[in-house]
Amino acid sequence: MRTIDRIVELRAGCDEARGAGRSVGLVPTMGYFHEGHRSLMRAARHDNDVVTATIFVNPLQFAPDEDLGGYPRDVAGDTAVAEAEGVDVLFVPSVAEMYPEPTRTTVHVAGLSEGLCGAERPSHFEGVTTVVTKLFEIVGPCTAYFGRKDFQQLAVVRRMTADLNLPVEVVGCPLVREPDGLAMSSRNAYLSPEERQAARVLYRALRRAADAVSAGERVASALRDLVVDAVTREPLVLLGYAEVRRASDLERIEHLDGEVLLAVGARVGPARLIDNVVLTIADDVVTADLGILTQGSTT
Ligand code: AMP
Repeated sequence: MRTIDRIVELRAGCDEARGAGRSVGLVPTMGYFHEGHRSLMRAARHDNDVVTATIFVNPLQFAPDEDLGGYPRDVAGDTAVAEAEGVDVLFVPSVAEMYPEPTRTTVHVAGLSEGLCGAERPSHFEGVTTVVTKLFEIVGPCTAYFGRKDFQQLAVVRRMTADLNLPVEVVGCPLVREPDGLAMSSRNAYLSPEERQAARVLYRALRRAADAVSAGERVASALRDLVVDAVTREPLVLLGYAEVRRASDLERIEHLDGEVLLAVGARVGPARLIDNVVLTIADDVVTADLGILTQGSTT
């Protein structure tokens, strides 16, 4: 594995690989790798000849009062993980490399980026879509892997890629959970033992909601109320939002039918955590995609 920090080097390496007829897989991240990141690297490794992972804690997607300064970082540990997952190129640029001057150009995906997490973090997705556009432009034609844990981010990136005809195939990968159900996140590192315990309520609430739909619930507001009720019983968890949306375009719905996203965002101590379940409702048949529970000792 080569670790590089220069844009020209990444671009040249990807051009050279494609020139030799090799496909390129891209895994954009902010680092501090966990099993969720690893699952994306494995998918990219499986599908492509050359795998590039990137680590960049992108200042543009953090509001001034957010955790940019304290965001967990461990480039040495991440390097070992990426190497173990068969990554060929690890791109770890500096802020000066990505933004030699304050950017005057941003990418905004209207509508999709405005509710859910976007309601609490108004400039967040513009930061994400701007940096992802830059990465797609630098890497060039490739297949890029994103986690469904950040369901809205995936929807926004997909739409941006389609709208701007970017030569990238965007692949969504399953949400990966700790053995007790907590969605894996680099930000889980912020949690005290008590907060870590309390945070489990998010998964419990989503499961309860999925069970209710399996038992026949079809009213979106009732499903939302169920989640709000479960989460607000946990005093250490401050619910930001619980929302039911159509999965395909994140539009609000009242009646549950087809592919439905139930998404939550909450603050637990210093950590902003998000989680979701995708329910597929076809007549009386309900399937719930809660992602993958890891087995091992990864807590
Ligand atoms: P991050 O480093 O948190 O910006 O995430 C980088 C990529 O990993 C994004 O595509 C995320 O959706 C994905 N990711 C983060 N956590 C998980 C998880 N628990 N399961 C699956 N994918 C994840």
